Amino acid sequence: MINNQTQTQAQKRERIGVFGGTFDPVHHGHLRVALEVKDAMGLDRVIFIPANIPPHKSRPDIASALDRMAMVRLACDCVNTFEVSGIELERSGRSYTADTLSLISMNSGMAGELFFIMGMDAFMQFHTWKDPERILGIASLIIMTRPDYDHEANDVEKYIRHHLSEDYAPSSGEEISFFHPDLCGIFFVKVTGLEISGTTIRALAKKEKSLAFLVPQNVEEYIVSRGLYR
Ligand code: ATP
Repeated sequence: MINNQTQTQAQKRERIGVFGGTFDPVHHGHLRVALEVKDAMGLDRVIFIPANIPPHKSRPDIASALDRMAMVRLACDCVNTFEVSGIELERSGRSYTADTLSLISMNSGMAGELFFIMGMDAFMQFHTWKDPERILGIASLIIMTRPDYDHEANDVEKYIRHHLSEDYAPSSGEEISFFHPDLCGIFFVKVTGLEISGTTIRALAKKEKSLAFLVPQNVEEYIVSRGLYR
């Protein structure tokens, strides 16, 4: 009995969420959905990965990689299952998700099961990304959807079978998901829609307006003290 228990514990792989974005700045929209996805999918932790934006692709008011990273770190301080990684900032140029996931997968080894978190809009363009099949060989996808998502379920199934693989089959539990004999799963998780965006926050900061209840207090203090987005 003890042996069986020990064996099961040893075999249980850590479920790791990977959440990429510009995070300019990180805000309560990001934090709330990451928490909801973590709970819905039973993830052990979520790693926030700020993207490296090469100078020729950036906006004039983009905060530096160091500032974006510092703000995510401050925001993640309040949730012990949230982490931040500078993995994309350490490489020059824009990173491809497939390469980032490969690196994380190598670091976590067989002990980790990866879940890449993205919004519905990004997912409907997923076939245009670099190496979608390689990504699906490394990580499951968690697609964050709005509460009225059920209306779109048919479109999503068509999209997956037409653009990704005909071998994905739907499995209807409480949440909609798709499974494949060789690739990782695709899971749809309904999240609370909070209409907060980095764009709105930067516009408010420019006018020196309060950012209360949009970003964590320590992030607002950081923005003000560093004079970001003025
Ligand atoms: P911007 O306005 O600068 O484009 P943003 O906050 O919309 O900023 P990112 O920081 O790149 O964009 O977002 C990272 C990820 O978080 C993306 O997958 C995006 O879809 C998701 N996201 C952003 N804002 C929200 C929100 N309010 N609710 C749920 N998900 C969000």
